[in-house]
Amino acid sequence: MGAAEPVVIEVGDVHVELRGAVDRIDEDGAGRAVVIDYKWSKKSSFSKLDDRIATGVDLQLPLYALAVEQRLSRRVIAAGYLTLKDSGERWLRLSPEAPGGRYDVNWEDDRDERMAAFQKLVVARDADIRSGRIDIAPLDRNKCAFCDFADLCRIAEVPRVSVPRVSVPK
Ligand code: SF4
Repeated sequence: MGAAEPVVIEVGDVHVELRGAVDRIDEDGAGRAVVIDYKWSKKSSFSKLDDRIATGVDLQLPLYALAVEQRLSRRVIAAGYLTLKDSGERWLRLSPEAPGGRYDVNWEDDRDERMAAFQKLVVARDADIRSGRIDIAPLDRNKCAFCDFADLCRIAEVPRVSVPRVSVPK
């Protein structure tokens, strides 16, 4: 699935469009989708995936699940990272039939509530950016090594501090 058409998030009268490209979509025997993203890394890179999704550091898996459900009209039972350096897997499980297990991120019991909260989080982040609140305070400073805008950014002048945890809005 390509990046041409956006995934649309609507909360109240706020409408946010995001674009991305899904690496792979598998289908189970019932026509439900399993969304996969390949990562050139190790499984340990995603050891706190639950927290990273809840705090908005890692938006990718729930966004891909939403995109596939919106654009392909397929129920998504899981979205996951396959890590190529160690053949690992980390899953966001959205159904009891999902791959993975208890050490993955499990939303199967309350997926609709979790997805609704996630969409509120995306809208809140979008509002922050539009209001000009773009602090030089990345939640995950390790990502700066791969940033296309690093030459323009003053991150090197900012001391390393711990970033307070941000709650998903209810
Ligand atoms: S280098 Fe700057 S713009 Fe890029 S991710 Fe880090 S803080 Fe953000």
